[in-house]
Amino acid sequence: SASVEVAGVAVDSFTERSFAETVIEWAGKPGVDVAVGVNAHVCNLARKDAQLRGFLQRHTTYADGQSIVWGARLLGRRLPERLATTDVAEPVLRAAADAGIPVYFLGAAEGVAEAAAERLRARIPGARIRTHHGYFGEHDVPRIAADIADHGTGILFVGMGDPVQERWVQEHEELLPPAVLTCGGLFDWLSG
Ligand code: UDP
Repeated sequence: SASVEVAGVAVDSFTERSFAETVIEWAGKPGVDVAVGVNAHVCNLARKDAQLRGFLQRHTTYADGQSIVWGARLLGRRLPERLATTDVAEPVLRAAADAGIPVYFLGAAEGVAEAAAERLRARIPGARIRTHHGYFGEHDVPRIAADIADHGTGILFVGMGDPVQERWVQEHEELLPPAVLTCGGLFDWLSG
């Protein structure tokens, strides 16, 4: 999709629907594709953090903040809509359930991602969601990676906040399933 550069970050153009379709497509093909939501906070971090800038350049991005949509408009460019991560999560999960794609939630305090998954399983027939909290050490990673693989995960949501989640994804790319979405405080939001 066409991208617009806002505050030094290239932001790709999606609608809620095209975003969910893209993620489902990723889940069915080889390689690892990552989507990162961009908002004013991420742009600020990226200005000072070359590693984060590189990460954003290499991966798919979307306008997670209204300020990004406005910023694009000031430059005379148009992004179709703001895609809050909290708004795109459910369409992605519904499409995944329809396609029989297992999903994994990684992040937030102990019990939070599982509570979010509980709610979604009740709302979305066929949803297959496994979870792990986001406070673990490097020595736990092989076990978590095995759990992600064992679930047959097609789509991994990583909710550990910016820039921890981006760094984690970057450092563990070889362990990741085909579709990865960074999602900040999504599990807290979904569980509360
Ligand atoms: N978090 C985590 N592991 C960490 C640090 C944070 O799982 O090492 C989780 C935290 O519990 C929260 C989420 O990351 O669920 C998002 O944190 P925050 O609200 O600070 O980030 P934002 O939503 O602003 O990106």
